[in-house]
Amino acid sequence: MKPKVFVTRPLPAPALDLLSSACEVRGYPEDAAIPATQLAEECREVEGLLVNSARINKEVLDAAPKLRAVSNCGVGYDNIDVAACNQRRIPITNPAGSLEETTADLAFTLLLATARRAIEADRYVREGRWDRWQFGLLHGLDVHHKTLGLVGFGGIGQPMARRGLGFSMRILYYARHRVTEGVERELHAEYTDLERLLRESDYVSLHVPLTSETRHIIDSKAFSLMKSTAILVNTARGPVVDEEALLQALSGGKIAGAGLDVFDGEPKVNPNFASLDNVVLAPHIGSATGETRLRMATLAVRNLIEMLEDKRPANVVNPEVYS
Ligand code: NAP
Repeated sequence: MKPKVFVTRPLPAPALDLLSSACEVRGYPEDAAIPATQLAEECREVEGLLVNSARINKEVLDAAPKLRAVSNCGVGYDNIDVAACNQRRIPITNPAGSLEETTADLAFTLLLATARRAIEADRYVREGRWDRWQFGLLHGLDVHHKTLGLVGFGGIGQPMARRGLGFSMRILYYARHRVTEGVERELHAEYTDLERLLRESDYVSLHVPLTSETRHIIDSKAFSLMKSTAILVNTARGPVVDEEALLQALSGGKIAGAGLDVFDGEPKVNPNFASLDNVVLAPHIGSATGETRLRMATLAVRNLIEMLEDKRPANVVNPEVYS
């Protein structure tokens, strides 16, 4: 008998076909957050969950006595109660390796768009305000040969460094651990503490997971250290930044601008962001290309099937359940 699984959002057809070949599949039919009560109801008989932006908390886990595998479709898994899964020895996977380059593309897009005021420029032309060439029109900031500070230097931080190198940028990075000498050499990346990174960087791009340690890692103190000409890029998670402090820094000239793909409490966005010209806003589209979304979904399906076959996929994020 095929194991029963539940999928929290529609999957691309090839990924769904693959899953259906190995499992009995039910799914939430809308590309929207499934109501928590409905998710708990759907979980009663399932052995596997393919999670796409749904919150898997203790209530959901308690409603799923047969659950033995959770495959997350996103690389960040702050939506899942890992401790509660560990107690039940339920492995969790993410699709690491499928979306990092694409997310770095978006982070660099936000960096460039903010520095060169691309959205303001587009609006200026569309609104018919362009009546003559002007030497002083829409001055932005240079990107090339500037310093790029990467907070988090893993799957996305490193491809971001590669993009920075293409623009002849100097690369600083901060994480809890240094990467190997070989990686530092290849990416011309210098390890530093967060304070120096904030003081010296022209562009600060965030690539840490959301954890209790990284919540508000960028706060008013961080903004007071940053250059007044600096730009912050956040494609990590909204709560990594203290948004009130960011709004104050942006409106008070403590930093020059911000490119944001993620927000605290999204999809609600603090309306004060929209009133500022020096921010570029995106609706959490870091990995949103057709090719990448298919790659993510397919890898998430493969991970789920492997776990249900009692194999251990490469992308288990809580390996302690196997010890
Ligand atoms: P990753 O490969 O796990 O890298 C995370 C980096 O953060 C590592 O360098 C890690 O190094 C560092 N880090 C972890 N905890 C830290 C802490 N407390 N202080 C300082 N550094 C810390 O993750 P990734 O693939 O680069 O993804 C990063 C995050 O981006 C994800 O967790 C997700 O939330 C977000 N994301 C967003 C989108 C989007 O659509 N906008 C798409 C994909 C991912 P150490 O362990 O040595 O500290």
